[in-house]
Amino acid sequence: MSEFLIKPKIQFGTNALDFLSGLTARRAFVVTDKAMVKFGFANKVTDKLMQRGIEFQVYDDVASDPDISAIVSGMKMMDAHYPDLVIALGGGSVIDAAKAVMYSLWHTRKESNRTKPQFIAIPTTSGTGSEVTSFSVIKSRSEKLVLVDEFMLPDVAILDPELVKSVPPAITADTGMDVLCHALEAYVSKAASDFSDAMAEKAVKLVFGHLIDCHHQGDNLSAREKMHNASCIAGMAFTNASLGITHSLAHALGGVFHVPHGRANALLMTHVVAFNANLHGDCNSEAAKRYAYLAQSLGLPANTVKEGVTSLIVAINVLKDEMGMPKSIRDTGVSETDFYARLTEMVGQALRDSCTPTNPRDVNTHQLETLYRQAFAGV
Ligand code: NAD
Repeated sequence: MSEFLIKPKIQFGTNALDFLSGLTARRAFVVTDKAMVKFGFANKVTDKLMQRGIEFQVYDDVASDPDISAIVSGMKMMDAHYPDLVIALGGGSVIDAAKAVMYSLWHTRKESNRTKPQFIAIPTTSGTGSEVTSFSVIKSRSEKLVLVDEFMLPDVAILDPELVKSVPPAITADTGMDVLCHALEAYVSKAASDFSDAMAEKAVKLVFGHLIDCHHQGDNLSAREKMHNASCIAGMAFTNASLGITHSLAHALGGVFHVPHGRANALLMTHVVAFNANLHGDCNSEAAKRYAYLAQSLGLPANTVKEGVTSLIVAINVLKDEMGMPKSIRDTGVSETDFYARLTEMVGQALRDSCTPTNPRDVNTHQLETLYRQAFAGV
C-alpha cells in the first residue's frame, strides 16, 4: 500500500494575498526576515491583520540557512505570545524556521497539549516548495539537518506572484534550479509514484518554459506566476517521493561552505544525473530511461536512452549558462585547499543525509567523493 498526501489549501495567482483579509484569529505570530520588512511585504501582511483586529507579533531575525539559535529565539518569542495563527513570510529559510519553531515548541514542551495554531506559509522565492512540504532544513554547526514530520505541513499556502518580482537575478537562478532539482530527483526517486510523476513532469516543463524569462525580466508577472506554481508543484512531488543525492551533497556543501542551496544543487545536478543513469556504462537503468523520457517530452533529441540522458544534461547546462551561473564549485570562490580539507567530512554528511536512501542508484563513500571532485572541477 502506498500513500500520496496533499495537505495545504493553495491560494494562487495575482492578489492571492487577499486571502488574509478573510482571516479570523486572536493573536498572530509572523515569522519573516529583514528583507521582507525592507521591501514592505511584512507590512502588507500586518496591515491585513490589523484590519481584521488580529493582534500580532513579528519575529524578523531569520537569516538564510537558519541555525538552531534562530529556532531557540523564535521558540521563546512564540511561547510568550501564545498565538492561534502563525504566518511564515519569506523564502525557504523563513518557512523552514517557522516550521522548526512550531515543531520544537509543540513536541518538546509540556505545553504540547495546546491547540496547534493555524499555519499559513507565504513563499517569496520560487524554489524550495517548503510551503507544501513536511521538511525543514536547519543548520547545526556546519551540518544541515533535515527534519521530516507531517506536523510541519502548513494549512494554507499563498502563492502571490507579486511577492517574487523583487527576487534579484542571481537568486532567481539559484532558486529556479532548486525547483528543477526537486522535480528531477522526485521523478527518479525509489519512492516515486504515478502521482508524484505527474507533478514532477509538469514542474520540469514549467521550469524550462519560464525560468529564463523570470531571470531576464524580473517583473514579468506571468512568468513569475508559472515559476511560483512550478516550485509548489515540485514541492508536492518531493514531499511524497523524497529526493536523492544531489540534495544530500548540496546540504553538506551548503552547511560547510555556505553555498546557497539552489546553487549547490545546480553545481551537482548534472554529475548526479550522469551517475544515476550510468551514462558512461550501460545507461540502461530505470532512472536512465526516465531521464530520457523527460528529455523527449521537452522536445530534446532522445532516439536512444543514452542520447536522451545526454540531451537532458546539455539542456540543464545551457539553462545555467544563460543565467550566468557558476560552472564549478571552484567558481563559487571555494579554494582547492579548503575544499579538499573538508571533503571527507562532507562525504560523511552526504552519506547519512535523509535524501540518500531514495536515490535511484545506491551509492558508497567513494562514489560520493568522486561526484564532489567532478563538481569542484566542473568536468
Ligand atoms: P532563502 O530563503 O535563504 O532566501 C535567499 C535570499 O533571498 C535571502 O537573502 C532572502 O532575504 C532573499 N529574498 C527572499 N525573498 C525575496 C524577495 N521576494 N525579494 C528579494 N529578496 C528575497 O532562499 P531559499 O532558496 O528560498 O531557501 C533556502 C533554504 O531552504 C535552505 O536552507 C534550504 O536548505 C532550504 N530548503 C528547504 C526545503 C523544504 O522542503 N523545507 C526544500 C529545499 C530547500
